[in-house]
This record gives sequence, structure tokens and C-alpha cells, in this order.
Amino acid sequence: MPISSELRDHIQGADVIPLLCALAELTGDRQLLKPDFRPRLTAEMVTVPLNGGLDNDTAESARDQIVNAIRQYIEDGKAAGAQEQLPVEDIIDFMTAGSAEYADLMKRELPVSSEDEIPRWPENKRGLKVAIIGAGPSGLGMAHKLKNAGIDFRIFDANPNVGGTWWSNAYPGCRLDTGRLSYSFSFAQRKDWNHYYTLREDLSRYYSDFARENGILEHISFNTEVTCAQWNDADSVWVLDLKNKLDGKTDQLSFGLVVSAVGVLSKPKIIEFPGAERYKGQKVHSALWNPSVDYKNKKVSIIGTGASAYQIAPAIAGEVSELNIFQRNPPWMLPTPNYHDEVSKGSVWLVENIPNYYRWLRLWEFWHSTIGKYALTVADPDWTEGGSVSGPNLRFRKALEEHISKQYVGHEILLEKVIPKYPVGAKRMLRDNGVWAKTLQSPHVRLVTSPIREFNETSVVTEDGKSYESDLIIYATGFDVENYIGGITVVGRAGQSLREKWGDEARAFLGISVPDFPNFFCLGGPNTGLVAIGSQTFMTECGINYICESIRHLLATHSRTIEPTEDAYRKFIDWMNVGNNSMAWGAAKIHSWYRNSRGAVVASWPYSLLQYWRSTRSVEKNDVRCEPCAEEIAG
Ligand code: NAP
Repeated sequence: MPISSELRDHIQGADVIPLLCALAELTGDRQLLKPDFRPRLTAEMVTVPLNGGLDNDTAESARDQIVNAIRQYIEDGKAAGAQEQLPVEDIIDFMTAGSAEYADLMKRELPVSSEDEIPRWPENKRGLKVAIIGAGPSGLGMAHKLKNAGIDFRIFDANPNVGGTWWSNAYPGCRLDTGRLSYSFSFAQRKDWNHYYTLREDLSRYYSDFARENGILEHISFNTEVTCAQWNDADSVWVLDLKNKLDGKTDQLSFGLVVSAVGVLSKPKIIEFPGAERYKGQKVHSALWNPSVDYKNKKVSIIGTGASAYQIAPAIAGEVSELNIFQRNPPWMLPTPNYHDEVSKGSVWLVENIPNYYRWLRLWEFWHSTIGKYALTVADPDWTEGGSVSGPNLRFRKALEEHISKQYVGHEILLEKVIPKYPVGAKRMLRDNGVWAKTLQSPHVRLVTSPIREFNETSVVTEDGKSYESDLIIYATGFDVENYIGGITVVGRAGQSLREKWGDEARAFLGISVPDFPNFFCLGGPNTGLVAIGSQTFMTECGINYICESIRHLLATHSRTIEPTEDAYRKFIDWMNVGNNSMAWGAAKIHSWYRNSRGAVVASWPYSLLQYWRSTRSVEKNDVRCEPCAEEIAG
């Protein structure tokens, strides 16, 4: 037990609200949940304060009660005056300040019980075999649920290990930019993360441990690329063409159902700049980083200033001789002072000593990201001022501009270059703890804004005629997102491929399924990306649930196929268009990977998390077309 002042320090540096919740659960003391202590978050808070929006006096009084509750719990082995167990619903009601419509969702996210783990599956699985393509977070989560349900499955992954994007993106500085706790699965929570924003290595380990501990590893064929999936209607199976990446051997296997979990950010976008073939130095895309990339003491050029570049540049700046960063549009950044910090000693102590505190802390992370910056990114149709999409959005811009400006005192020319002209929320926002400004201000670093004209043997040449000598060019230019199924050729009914159906506009009902592609599902599909709210793990879990419900529906209705109706698919697309056009990322006239070349937003989910959760809880009979089974589904 730390001495009082130490305990007070631990608490001072911790979020008040989840501490109150955890201790209320532990002690049954309703005083910890009194109305005065309810959080007062507003969307306009640029960062979520540790005091949950309480005024200083109230927050101090809450901390006093927290100290007392902890002392009594630790010293007496239980809370003095401990009462009966408080209903978890009451604690959630406190955390959400009475947002009753979120009660069920929050209970599931805590989770209150493992009920979700055991869906009511029909006894007879009819020998159904599922192919999962990709052993990244979504593929592993899907596998876990199918395993619990007793459904046979096989995972194929072109990589030699699990983790997907967290395995492939091995560049220096790669880490999460959303909260560590809410990024982990709700059904596989972990409390001992080392950093507030987890390093890629730790995430990779989390997914390897998850796969091993849940008996998923033995279901994975590594180094195996799925090149084609073709629907065979006569046998009601998908025939998969497989290629072993090590020995080149090919194979064909059939499955009753396919889940594509390849992820949208799997195909690196490498721009063919004129003269690229003449350039003699080393080139690498951020997602293809490997140990042979030689940057130490070299002249390095990075193309792009998106999420990847933003992590790479500060990580390598101290070790290169020169660094040129080629920027088209600067990113907006959310102030996040602890972005690179290790979890504090105090927080570790609280997590280790207060049972279930980490679960309430995770729920708190989840809750405040649910509110997120949504209200600040809604576009006002009557708004005419450039650089913003509404009054709140303009205020958000001003707050961020002020935060950025403070970091560029004496560097006014640079400041001019780093303030985006487009509205906040029109592109992905990054995390700002000051290292970006520090990197750009280093004497050996240049931020180049003249567009790239070409490469020559040794250099990157810009349109203003300047040449930037480079031993290494890093493409941090993002991903080819027109294709949500990676390099796989998926051929559905009547021989039409998904690529032909989609063209440059990938769409799927609920981001998951497509008419004429029976028994085929996507995770991380079109219109499931989040911009101003939440964590992608939540969307993945919703998708997994919907796919499980679809399989259950298939079995329970003795159907051989299930797919969305054309009507449901069309209505969903219209609904997405209406929603996305009314958000900053759809209304602003700026390109981003969320949109296709004609400006249609194909990547993003424009509504609340609650809306997606509700839409994916169960299969709505009228939204799907099922064909009855003549006989049992072939395996
Ligand atoms: P990105 O956000 O698409 O950024 C690509 C960058 O390359 C942009 O700055 C873009 O400029 C620039 N670019 C593209 N073509 C160019 C050209 N011809 N000349 C000069 N610059 C060019 O890609 P990313 O940074 O790899 O990130 C993609 C997504 O991956 C993120 O949005 C995020 O969802 C995910 N990601 C997440 C993390 C994390 O959580 N930690 C880390 C990395 C990536 P414009 O802005 O002008 O297009």
C-alpha cells in the first residue's frame, strides 16, 4: 500500500470516472456514484480531461472519496461499510450520464457476461466449412467466434505470422493511435499494456498470444495466398485457388462459406513518379518495411504526411543525416501529450490493485470515443465559410490552430505550411505530442511542399526545379483502397467478379455482404471505417456478430445460400451517401482515401456506433435472400 501522498499522486494522474465506477462495483458504495460526480463531457473538449469534465472542487472531492475507498479496501480486505452489489446497469448509467439508449451496448462492451460467446446455434451444423482469408485482428476474432460455435473453419494468410496489418507494417515508430484498452477485443481484454498507445510489437504479441491461447493457430495455413474464390452454384461451395508463397505450389479447396478479412489497408499504393526506374538508391513503401532498409546516417526522403509518415519521420530523424518530407496536404492533429508515454507507475498500481479497474477504464475509453468528435464534424448545409463545415467545426479548427501555433514560435514560415486549409475531420486526424513540430524544426529536416516532378538517378526533383539527394526514398503514400478484397479475384453467380461489379465504388450491405455473392462476407469492408469516433475493433466485432447471425440464419432456415437482397443493398448505399455527404469528410472538397476518384465516400461509416451495433445485432429477414437446401451443404 503506497503512503497517502503517493496514493493521491496515483489518483491525480488517473481518470476519475472509471475509478469511481470500479470502486462502486467493488464496494457497493452508492456515494461514489452520486449525481455530482457524473461526467460532464462535451464534444467540444479537444482532449478528454482526467477529471471527466467535473469542476475542480467536485473532482477533488471525488478523489477524496476514491482515496478513502481504496485505503479501506486494501487495509480491511474489503470496503468498510460495504453494501450489497450494485447493479452494473447503475454504474453504466453513471458513466454515460444517463444515456439510456446506450445501456445495452455498454453492457456488451464491458462485457457483463460471456453470453455473447455462446450464441444459440442449431445442433446440426451440416458439415459447414468456413474459409477465413486473413489472420489479422478481424480474421482471428471471426475464428474465435466460429470455434466457440463449433463451426469448422480454416484461415489462410499470405504472411508467415498472425497480426495482419500489425505484422506487415514493421516501420520504425509504428504504434496505435487509438486507446490501447478499447482497441483490444471486448472478449479478450488485457490489462498490462506498456504504453498508452500500444507499440506495434506489443500488438503483434497480443494477437499471437490470442491465437495460441484460443487454439486458433492450428487452423491457420500461413504463407498461403488465396488468389481466386469462385462460386460453384451446383454444389453451393466457394472454390478457392491457393498458392504457397514459399514453394509456389498451388492447390484448390472448397468451402461452404467465405469470410474475407483481408482489411482495406492491405495493398500498398506505390506512385509511379516519372524517372522512378532511373533512381539508383533504395526505395521502400511503409507497409513493406523490412530489415534491409538502411536509413542510418543516410539522406532520406519521405513522401507523404499521413498517419504512416507521421510515425516514421520522428522515429528515424535522430539517426539520419538528412530528412526531406514531401507534403501535399498537412494533417490535422489532436493534442495528445501522452502519445509516446509508457503507462505511468501510478496507473500500473491502480490496475494491479483495484480488481476490474482496467475493464471500467476500457469502457470509459470506449465511451468517450463514442461521443468522440462526431458533433464537430457534422456539416451544416448552409455553412459557407471555407476551411470549416459548421460553427462547431470552425471553433474546433481555431482550438487546434492555437495548439499548433504555440509549437512554431519563431518558425512562422513553417507554421504557414503545417496548418491545413481543409476542414478538420475531412481527413484522418493524427495524434500530437509535439514530436512532429520538433522533427520539422530540426536543422537537418526539410518540409518540402513543391509537388514532386520526377526522380533522377540520385534525387527527388520538385516542380520548382529543386533537387533533393536521397539514399533512401520512403513511400508513405497509403494504400490502394478501391479494392476491398486485396488481390483476390472473387467470382460470384453468373461469372461476374466482385471487381467488375464494384468498379471504383466498392459497396456492401452493412459493409459486409453483396448480392450475387452468396455465402460471402467481408470484415473491414466498405463504409465501415471510422473517422471522428470509436475504435475499429468495435466495428469488427459488430461485423463478426452479423456474420455469425447470418450463418445461424442459414442453418436454422435450412438454406443453402444467404445474401442481401438488391433492394437492401441499394437502400444501404443511399443511406451511406446521405450520411457521408453530411459529414466533413464527405462535404469538404478535398480528396482522401475515404473517397473514390468521383468523390463518393466508400470507406467511412457516417452514423453513430450505436446505429451500427443495432444494424448488425441480427439478420432482418426482409434484407436477405435465402435459397432452400436440397441436401446438406457440401463441405
Ligand atoms: P494516407 O493517410 O493515405 O497518406 C498518404 C500520404 O501520401 C498523404 O499525405 C498523401 O497526400 C501523400 N501522397 C499520396 N500521393 C502523393 C503524391 N503523388 N505526391 C505526394 N504525396 C502523396 O496513408 P497512410 O499514412 O499509410 O495511412 C493510411 C491509413 O492507415 C490511415 O488513415 C490509418 O487509417 C491507417 N494507419 C493507422 C496507423 C495507426 O493507427 N497507428 C498508422 C498508420 C496508418 P494527400 O493528403 O495530399 O493525399
